[in-house]
Amino acid sequence: MAPLAPSTAAASSPELRRKRTAAAPPPRSPPEARRFCSISDVLRRARPVDAPPPLARARHQMALCGACGAGDRDEELLLCDICDRGRHTFCLRPILPAVPLGPWFCPDCVPTSINRFPLKQSKIVDFFRIEKGAEGGAVRPAKSGLSQDAKRRRRRSIVMHKKKRRLLPFVPTEDRVRRLEQMASAATALTSSKMEFSNELTYVPNMAPISANQAKLEEGGMQVLSREDKETIELCRSMLKRGECPPLLVVFDSHEGFTVKADACIKDLTFLTEYTGDVDYLKNRENDGCDSIMTLLSPVDPAQKLVICPDKRGNIARFINGINNHTPDGKKKQNVKCVRYDIDGECHVLLVACRDIARGEKLYYDYNGHEYAYPTHHFV
Ligand SMILES: [Zn+2]
Ligand SMILES: [Zn+2]
Repeated sequence: MAPLAPSTAAASSPELRRKRTAAAPPPRSPPEARRFCSISDVLRRARPVDAPPPLARARHQMALCGACGAGDRDEELLLCDICDRGRHTFCLRPILPAVPLGPWFCPDCVPTSINRFPLKQSKIVDFFRIEKGAEGGAVRPAKSGLSQDAKRRRRRSIVMHKKKRRLLPFVPTEDRVRRLEQMASAATALTSSKMEFSNELTYVPNMAPISANQAKLEEGGMQVLSREDKETIELCRSMLKRGECPPLLVVFDSHEGFTVKADACIKDLTFLTEYTGDVDYLKNRENDGCDSIMTLLSPVDPAQKLVICPDKRGNIARFINGINNHTPDGKKKQNVKCVRYDIDGECHVLLVACRDIARGEKLYYDYNGHEYAYPTHHFV
């Protein structure tokens, strides 16, 4: 398990516990000759209907990792359910925190294992719970253009932005078919990750109750979202309900898994999405296998610390990657900021463009970021 980000993180800094960046190098242990598959490996692969023939089993026993070439540490050596090749959990990029419970596919086979979400308006409307018959959105004819309030707001925001560094609403792609493709790409990533779409923080029995999410408990205080910025967020939420999504496309990359890229130019300070998922106490999640746990509330009492867990429910935010903090180029890649705000007394995590983003650029944010040094983030 990768350690949590240090508790010295400043109040407004969203910390992440993503194995893909926080992962430490694999511990060095003397390689042992691998003779047999571990019981857990055999059990994981056992199929009641068509159990592997003895020949296949013999092959498993000789499995080597396709990355480091070693066959040791078999309890961490995964075997691909399509091609049978092996890969250590710690040799994968991103590193897998634990042996997955279900089937596992190696980076070469993942693309063939992905079930593309159907590019059908009715399916997408259902999946994202888009308001049927709403003015605009997926069901609106393309030629009618974007809703008037979005246009009006956008013009005003751009003017204000120069003076006050306000958040801008995202600008949905005008082409209705292209928007469907964007939403289908997100639906593909969500369904492949066995996640349900949720654009809100969710509170589930036996996890943290909504009453635990109190921004006033944040150690050092949490910045309050201004009235104008709140209106921008509300505007974006209502656009989403009409199927006017941010111009983002989820793509699969064999090194990074699902990642998000801009499908249009996105201006600096554009609000992209809220980070959503189930809200839980961190103490319940210390040994969790989820690789994308996000800090939501960091109060003095560590027992009250809240995290967002997008393992069952969530949105596109889950697929935006972190920069590599250990390479000189990492910082240059960053184009998104992740900021926690007090909205009506509750904490929320927002993802916002931190510079102009060109069409086709992948989105990255830094979760071990500069906020450590600057408790109040720079654009408010
Ligand atoms: Zn390996
Ligand atoms: Zn494979």
